[in-house]
Amino acid sequence: MEKIYADVIVDIAHEKVDRPFQYRIPVDMRAIITEGMCVHVPFGAGNKLLKGYVTAIKDTPDFDPERIKEIKEIITGGVSVEEKQMHLAAFLKRNYGSTMIQALKTVLPAKQSVKALEKKTVKLLVSDKRAEEFLWFFEKKHQTARARLLKELMQNKELPYLLVTGKLNISTPTIKALEEQGILSIEVENMFRNPVRINDSTDERKQLSTSQQAIVDEVLTDFDNDKKGTYLIHGITGSGKTEVYMNLIEGILLRGRQAIVLIPEIALTYQTLMRFYKRFGNRVSVMNSTLSAGEKFDQCERAKRGEIDVIIGPRSALFTPFPNIGLIIMDEEHEPSYKSEGTPKYHARETAEEVARMHGASLVLGSATPSLEAYYRAKKGEYKLFTLTERLTGGSLPLVHTVDLREELKSGNRSIFSIKLQELMTDRLNKKQQIMLFLNRRGYAGFISCRSCGHVMKCPHCDVSLSEHWGGRLVCHYCGYEEPAVKLCPSCGSKYISGFKAGTQQIEEKVKALYPQARVLRMDADTTRQKESYEKILAAFANREADILIGTQMIVKGHDFPNVTLVGVLAADLSLSVGDYRAGERTFQLLTQAAGRAGRGELPGEVVIQTYQPENPCVVHAANQAYEDFYEEEILYRELLRYPPVCNMMAVQIFAKDEESGARLSEELAELAKSFKDPTERADKGLLVIGPAPAAIGKVNDIFRFVFYVKYEKYDTLVEVKDKLEEKASFLQLKNEIVQIDFNPVNLF
Ligand code: ADP
Ligand code: ZN
Ligand code: ZN
Repeated sequence: MEKIYADVIVDIAHEKVDRPFQYRIPVDMRAIITEGMCVHVPFGAGNKLLKGYVTAIKDTPDFDPERIKEIKEIITGGVSVEEKQMHLAAFLKRNYGSTMIQALKTVLPAKQSVKALEKKTVKLLVSDKRAEEFLWFFEKKHQTARARLLKELMQNKELPYLLVTGKLNISTPTIKALEEQGILSIEVENMFRNPVRINDSTDERKQLSTSQQAIVDEVLTDFDNDKKGTYLIHGITGSGKTEVYMNLIEGILLRGRQAIVLIPEIALTYQTLMRFYKRFGNRVSVMNSTLSAGEKFDQCERAKRGEIDVIIGPRSALFTPFPNIGLIIMDEEHEPSYKSEGTPKYHARETAEEVARMHGASLVLGSATPSLEAYYRAKKGEYKLFTLTERLTGGSLPLVHTVDLREELKSGNRSIFSIKLQELMTDRLNKKQQIMLFLNRRGYAGFISCRSCGHVMKCPHCDVSLSEHWGGRLVCHYCGYEEPAVKLCPSCGSKYISGFKAGTQQIEEKVKALYPQARVLRMDADTTRQKESYEKILAAFANREADILIGTQMIVKGHDFPNVTLVGVLAADLSLSVGDYRAGERTFQLLTQAAGRAGRGELPGEVVIQTYQPENPCVVHAANQAYEDFYEEEILYRELLRYPPVCNMMAVQIFAKDEESGARLSEELAELAKSFKDPTERADKGLLVIGPAPAAIGKVNDIFRFVFYVKYEKYDTLVEVKDKLEEKASFLQLKNEIVQIDFNPVNLF
């Protein structure tokens, strides 16, 4: 391709990002110009010289070439916030595949008309004694939201408004009602320069343990010696990682730099946020999905202006436009939600490495069950590894029983609860201790099949099985198609057609049948559809409003429940059968986390893992809480089959309205990918193309899906393949097909 034309965005004031203008590249610039570069271009009727950014380079013009103006000059040197964001967008585009515009939209907050920035706080106005009286009154009248807000205000006399409406899930009318009763006031400050701490006295600063202090010292010393790197803290939940993060942030703020703390949305609990607010007061802010676009934009403006220097949030908080980032923390580093599902399909870990490199910042990853990627790099010496092995709150590791469900059936127990689990549940209910029952539902759809002929009820539009829902409906989870449940098998007429295995609802029913006196809460996608309702359920359980909490993977993180002394994993291997090379890793992580929920407090805990595969290494190592053993075995498998992190893998998905043309396009693109093979390389080391084939779910909403995978050690070669595929797709001017690329995908297609 000859570089003759460039698309240029002249104003990075966001709303104009949608519309680049085309310019001619002067001959002497053609060799050096790249996407993301900052240039001066003549603009408008008066040819006023404006600063712009190159978003695409082309060899053919999109308009009449006569009317295309020429780029004036390339601007070099400056490193404004904008330029860093442009650079980051270019990085995303190059490494993960997308258009520059898509990448820019990922990196920039949506522009909103900004009102005067204001910061609202909710303040308690009444004395403790009056507050007690009001609390008693609200509780008596079952005004739970009012009671909840008041309780929080009694602990912290002042709370950020966004925290109250967000994580605490209190509605505006409720806040207004308390304001009218004279219990609280809503204070509005225009901007906030002076950090005011929330109830300073309650920030019980901990004396760090020797191993915690060692981490803080080493990271900060490296920082001062300009040896900034990436660090991995491997430490079980409760081993004091968050305390380390906070001390590191303090050190970084003292050095005049800013910090980003990434925490997966689901683990971003009210308690965790409070810890940061208490330590950093108004210098800290939150960025999460409960914020409106306008609120998000405000946060970014504040960050730019230096009014805040710590931001906490999920994946997207990484793009907070701080001028001079010194530290990025990535907690629960192994979480799949760190990988973006939308294009560009970036991973926050690698992107954080790039942000850290750009700013000269340190990157600290933390996890109880590190991803194979991070641990592999730590073992190779690319990351520095720290381990924290002790729980600082007391509490010991739980006693784990593994129960073989096949034996259970042989001995005549047809219940979904093993004898051991029933025994322990009865015991805990008698002792008024709490129980968590965990159903590992990942990739499992609760499908309906005929026990006589094996017929599975499927969606007529998508190649997936229908799931049974409450009220006798069969529902497709991909397109929403619904039909009434069947009584007789449509294929053979047998009446033995039913749900294959229990879902959380059925478990709830069975628990209630077995223990009618027990108070049960259930948490799954159905009960948490409403924004933030999972927080509510967790809070109710923490308040001991229930004896048993039943749930999917959502229950394995978040709040601490000191009174939980029994965790039951109902079918540990359900997630092992997902046809996905990460199934083992995910299973190990989920089981380890689930087991880790027991015995968090003074009381010792027990865990029952029920499984059809008690000998499976993931189950065995999780039961022993043996991360290292699990890692050694898993990495061997990845090496053997050339899966990430040992190898790099690029998935190419083709979506097509027409099955035949989709198949043809897939073949064509796969052939193109194969042309990158180096014939001098050994077959088992060289670039490998697998497929194309129809995707595991071959059709969704009447759109056909095909996929092929390209595996190779050299990431840069895969990037070249991606560029060629994109070029080809754009050359073909596809109308009825879409090509999507995903590097080192979290899920297989
Ligand atoms: P993690 O992030 O690894 O789950 P936390 O930092 O949340 O661990 O610590 C777990 C608990 O231990 C918290 O209640 C915290 O206040 C407490 N804790 C952490 N560090 C110390 C310490 N050095 N001394 C006493 N308690 C500590
Ligand atoms: Zn049948
Ligand atoms: Zn469907």
